[in-house]
Amino acid sequence: MSSAPPLAELTTLRVGGRPERLVTATTQRDLVDLARDVWASEEQWLVLGGGSNVLVGDDGFEGAVIRVATRGIEVLPVDEPGRARVRVQAGEPWDEFVAYSVQRGWSGLEALSGIPGLMGAAPVQNIGAYGQELSDHLVAIEFLDADDGEVRRMTAAELELGYRSSVLKSGLEGIVLSVELDLADTTAERAVLGESLGEPIAYAQLATALGVQLGDRVPIADVRRTVLELRAGKGMVLDPDDPDSVSAGSFFTNPVVTERVARTLPASAPRWYLAPEVADEIVPLGSVAAESPLDAFLAFQSSDEPAPQPVAPGEELVKLSAAWLIEQSGIRRGFALPGSRAAISSKHTLALVNRGGASAEEIAQLARFVQSRVNAEFGITIVPEPVFVGIEL
Ligand SMILES: Cc1cc2nc3c(=O)[nH]c(=O)nc-3n(C[C@H](O)[C@H](O)[C@H](O)COP(=O)(O)OP(=O)(O)OC[C@H]3O[C@@H](n4cnc5c(N)ncnc54)[C@H](O)[C@@H]3O)c2cc1C
Repeated sequence: MSSAPPLAELTTLRVGGRPERLVTATTQRDLVDLARDVWASEEQWLVLGGGSNVLVGDDGFEGAVIRVATRGIEVLPVDEPGRARVRVQAGEPWDEFVAYSVQRGWSGLEALSGIPGLMGAAPVQNIGAYGQELSDHLVAIEFLDADDGEVRRMTAAELELGYRSSVLKSGLEGIVLSVELDLADTTAERAVLGESLGEPIAYAQLATALGVQLGDRVPIADVRRTVLELRAGKGMVLDPDDPDSVSAGSFFTNPVVTERVARTLPASAPRWYLAPEVADEIVPLGSVAAESPLDAFLAFQSSDEPAPQPVAPGEELVKLSAAWLIEQSGIRRGFALPGSRAAISSKHTLALVNRGGASAEEIAQLARFVQSRVNAEFGITIVPEPVFVGIEL
């Protein structure tokens, strides 16, 4: 029997059995050495940051969990006035870095305040919220490649960052050692204006809460405070006193469909038109969860169901609200299956929460139920956002 702690103790959903072993690295050198040792032993491995975007099965993990606890922030020289360049070690808590950057008068991450987890995981799903995404400011990462054990620099372009996606999430194996960011340094502006203004507000709910128009610029500290308030109202900041924050954040991503599919929904369904480059995230009508239209097409060729409609050249793509789809399929906040300790958050339909003592299987059962209700009602398969380890939907 493993003496490692259950992963329930290291994940925000508080589920997951024990790994065979757990190793923790506190310096970059250690992290590289530990990972190379684990890879040489050919056991299975998993990198773990803050555990806020994983669903680990009740049987735990048959292999080594490599826990990242490396710290350090290095300010890099810049040629361009008004910019700040910084390299942050993978184990720095994301929100502590956002607080630090706001305090320094660096703008660009203020709307990403309050997201749990560590810096190294931020590029994995290109974290985003309230109109900002990591990709807007990511320059490069230092990456320890599991293929050859070498450290290399990967630029943001090489990471193919998309909506909650990257090559790291879709299969490139290795460890993000550090993250290099480019932010706006508002210090000179502050000397003139008396305050550090953030990026133009790009999210309607945030603009309303701040009492400004979309596109207006607001002091970065106000943006941070308001985002934290908005997030707390939805159980989206980790808070030991808020049972609705025992979650992995949004459990499903917003599905991207073709305009033809979107037209089948009631006019009241929220929708956002997208640029064509996100085409590979399309979830065709009635499809199984698929990584690309080609995968979906191939999956349907081998099934009895009708093939999805191909995407016509130039056809617009539309992002739908997963929360709206879930609510309209009859699932309300606070909903739980009979006898289950997993529930929909009482503050936000998109979060699945552990009400205390839930198993990973109970969380998965609820997720399957939500997915099947939405599919039955709208013919759209919503796709989970967290990474699944030793458990499937
Ligand atoms: C209450 C709450 C609110 C949230 N709100 C948001 C939100 O607004 N926007 C958003 O985008 N996300 C949100 N999330 C999800 C989550 O916080 C982010 O995805 C975060 O970046 C995960 O960081 P982590 O360190 O906890 O990653 P983990 O959960 O530890 O790991 C997630 C994945 O990344 C991999 N990974 C972790 N570290 C590394 C590394 N150094 N190198 C390579 N791979 C690594 C893991 O193997 C795993 O596959 C929320 C989660 C919670 C609980």
